[in-house]
Amino acid sequence: MLCGPKGSERRSDLKCGICGRPSELFELPGRAGKLCLSCGADLAISEQLAIEIDAATLSGQETKSLVAEFAHLSQRLLERAQSA
Ligand SMILES: [Zn+2]
Repeated sequence: MLCGPKGSERRSDLKCGICGRPSELFELPGRAGKLCLSCGADLAISEQLAIEIDAATLSGQETKSLVAEFAHLSQRLLERAQSA
Protein backbone atom coordinates (compact mmCIF):
# COMPACT_ATOMS: atom_id res chain seq x y z
CA MET A 1 0.00 0.00 0.00
CA LEU A 2 1.24 3.39 -0.92
CA CYS A 3 0.97 6.28 1.46
CA GLY A 4 0.23 8.92 -1.11
CA PRO A 5 2.32 9.92 -4.07
CA LYS A 6 5.61 11.67 -3.52
CA GLY A 7 5.41 15.41 -3.72
CA SER A 8 1.75 15.63 -2.72
CA GLU A 9 2.66 17.15 0.63
CA ARG A 10 4.69 19.90 -0.91
CA ARG A 11 1.91 20.71 -3.34
CA SER A 12 -0.70 20.96 -0.62
CA ASP A 13 1.33 23.83 0.82
CA LEU A 14 0.42 25.81 -2.23
CA LYS A 15 -3.30 25.21 -2.01
CA CYS A 16 -5.91 27.32 -0.37
CA GLY A 17 -6.83 26.07 3.10
CA ILE A 18 -10.55 26.31 2.31
CA CYS A 19 -11.22 25.57 -1.34
CA GLY A 20 -7.98 23.69 -2.03
CA ARG A 21 -7.35 25.54 -5.25
CA PRO A 22 -3.76 26.19 -6.20
CA SER A 23 -3.75 29.92 -6.51
CA GLU A 24 -2.06 33.00 -5.17
CA LEU A 25 -2.27 32.55 -1.42
CA PHE A 26 -2.32 34.95 1.45
CA GLU A 27 -1.40 34.22 5.02
CA LEU A 28 -3.92 35.68 7.41
CA PRO A 29 -2.67 36.71 10.83
CA GLY A 30 -3.65 34.36 13.64
CA ARG A 31 -4.50 31.54 11.27
CA ALA A 32 -2.91 28.24 10.38
CA GLY A 33 -2.96 27.71 6.66
CA LYS A 34 -3.05 30.07 3.77
CA LEU A 35 -6.04 31.13 1.78
CA CYS A 36 -6.67 32.30 -1.74
CA LEU A 37 -7.90 35.82 -2.27
CA SER A 38 -11.60 35.03 -2.58
CA CYS A 39 -11.72 32.69 0.43
CA GLY A 40 -9.68 35.12 2.49
CA ALA A 41 -12.02 37.96 1.56
CA ASP A 42 -15.14 35.94 2.38
CA LEU A 43 -13.65 34.85 5.66
CA ALA A 44 -12.68 38.40 6.58
CA ILE A 45 -16.22 39.60 5.75
CA SER A 46 -17.83 36.82 7.76
CA GLU A 47 -15.63 37.65 10.75
CA GLN A 48 -16.54 41.30 10.40
CA LEU A 49 -20.22 40.34 10.25
CA ALA A 50 -19.87 38.22 13.38
CA ILE A 51 -18.48 41.26 15.19
CA GLU A 52 -21.32 43.44 13.91
CA ILE A 53 -23.91 40.85 14.94
CA ASP A 54 -22.43 40.79 18.45
CA ALA A 55 -22.45 44.57 18.64
CA ALA A 56 -26.01 44.80 17.33
CA THR A 57 -27.19 42.12 19.75
CA LEU A 58 -25.59 43.93 22.67
CA SER A 59 -27.20 47.22 21.74
CA GLY A 60 -30.58 45.59 21.14
CA GLN A 61 -30.68 46.22 17.41
CA GLU A 62 -32.21 44.12 14.66
CA THR A 63 -29.75 41.42 13.58
CA LYS A 64 -31.89 39.44 11.15
CA SER A 65 -30.34 40.81 7.95
CA LEU A 66 -26.81 40.53 9.37
CA VAL A 67 -27.44 36.96 10.45
CA ALA A 68 -28.86 36.10 7.04
CA GLU A 69 -25.82 37.58 5.33
CA PHE A 70 -23.52 35.73 7.70
CA ALA A 71 -25.32 32.43 7.02
CA HIS A 72 -25.08 33.03 3.29
CA LEU A 73 -21.33 33.65 3.48
CA SER A 74 -20.73 30.66 5.72
CA GLN A 75 -22.66 28.50 3.30
CA ARG A 76 -20.58 29.75 0.42
CA LEU A 77 -17.34 28.98 2.24
CA LEU A 78 -18.63 25.55 3.18
CA GLU A 79 -19.62 24.72 -0.37
CA ARG A 80 -16.22 25.80 -1.60
CA ALA A 81 -14.53 23.61 1.01
CA GLN A 82 -16.66 20.63 0.05
CA SER A 83 -15.96 20.98 -3.65
CA ALA A 84 -12.21 20.98 -3.01
ZN1 LIG B 1 -9.81 29.45 -1.59
